[in-house]
Amino acid sequence: PWNDPQAVPLIQYKNVTKRFGEFVAVDNLSLDIYEREFFALLGPSGCGKTTLMRMLAGFEDPTEGQILLAGQDLVGTPPYKRQTNMMFQSYALFPHMTVWDNIAFGLRQDRMEKGAVNARVEEMLKLVKLEKFGKRKPHQLSGGQRQRVALARSLAKRPKVLLLDEPLGALDKKLREETQFELMDIQMELGMTFLIVTHDQEEAMTVADRIAVMNQGRLVQVDQPAVIYEHPNSRYVADFVGDVNILDATVEAVEPGMITLRPLAAPERRFRIAQDCPAKPGDSVAIALRPEKMRVEFDAPADPNVNCLQGEIWDIGYLGDLSIYHVELPGGARVKAAKPNLTRMVERPITWDDKVYVYFSPDAGVVLTS
Ligand code: ATP
Repeated sequence: PWNDPQAVPLIQYKNVTKRFGEFVAVDNLSLDIYEREFFALLGPSGCGKTTLMRMLAGFEDPTEGQILLAGQDLVGTPPYKRQTNMMFQSYALFPHMTVWDNIAFGLRQDRMEKGAVNARVEEMLKLVKLEKFGKRKPHQLSGGQRQRVALARSLAKRPKVLLLDEPLGALDKKLREETQFELMDIQMELGMTFLIVTHDQEEAMTVADRIAVMNQGRLVQVDQPAVIYEHPNSRYVADFVGDVNILDATVEAVEPGMITLRPLAAPERRFRIAQDCPAKPGDSVAIALRPEKMRVEFDAPADPNVNCLQGEIWDIGYLGDLSIYHVELPGGARVKAAKPNLTRMVERPITWDDKVYVYFSPDAGVVLTS
């Protein structure tokens, strides 16, 4: 929907600023989010992502600007009258109530008729795969199950938008990854709009249709996960999302679709990067190179067009599925190249202090001008 010019956004932030005293937490920010999107706000601690979400929920008012939901200005509407619902990391379940009553709570408050409450609670328990757990109290559940009850409770009233503030932070890595896929399934099944706040880039990339990367109260890049990862628009995004080598370089020549650069870390070399770039010869830029797009080998590449560096293995990080080779260049700079461990390792083919070539094709790197 975000690339359909006819689509009407469900959520619109229009020139929203939030100040706490002198401090600007959100800085004249505009953002459209569409129906059925799973949208992630991603950024380091303090970048303003929670504040942005809390303003949509109604827990904070913007200092300036407008927030619209389905075309209606929300500012001034109290949280409980908004068609948004927030699920918190600290599963704020009522400890003395059963799972069933926890999920039914909001519906009863809304004076929903009893038969309809029962049907809705059953539907929600099924949705989060806890049909048999309705009679339990929260303390009789595992952390992951409690999390699912919290999710069921926040979905029971069928809000237009579910807000998830670091929802999986308390779960261990494996459970967190499983729950991410469950969240995606549930979002698809309900056809709802989910907005998640996270500082975990892998989580954002896994669950989201689109990601907004934030820095100091502003949006730096808003796009699909693969675009953010493959075509970061700045050093900040390249560095924040995924592992990366950032090499400073000087532009030597610019042709359509190709740019030639002199890397500062190896000034005798020239790199060619396949990219249309607004830079001019003499400009200082950076090249972002993902470790998994760099090869590390004993032999020089056969193709002379391939970009190449030479160095010595300085460290190896064995991660199981891949190994990260840290290569020190003659000038002292270091680059990282990842290599999948395709065979069961009986011996290390490349080891410490080996002299190696690191190379990458012109379409592996991204030139960054900011
Ligand atoms: P985190 O992941 O740590 O929660 P965040 O990106 O979500 O970070 P926010 O919680 O939105 O960041 O906070 C943005 C900035 O605004 C922070 O510097 C924070 O200290 C400040 N801030 C947030 N709420 C208040 C408040 N009520 N009063 C004063 N300053 C606040």
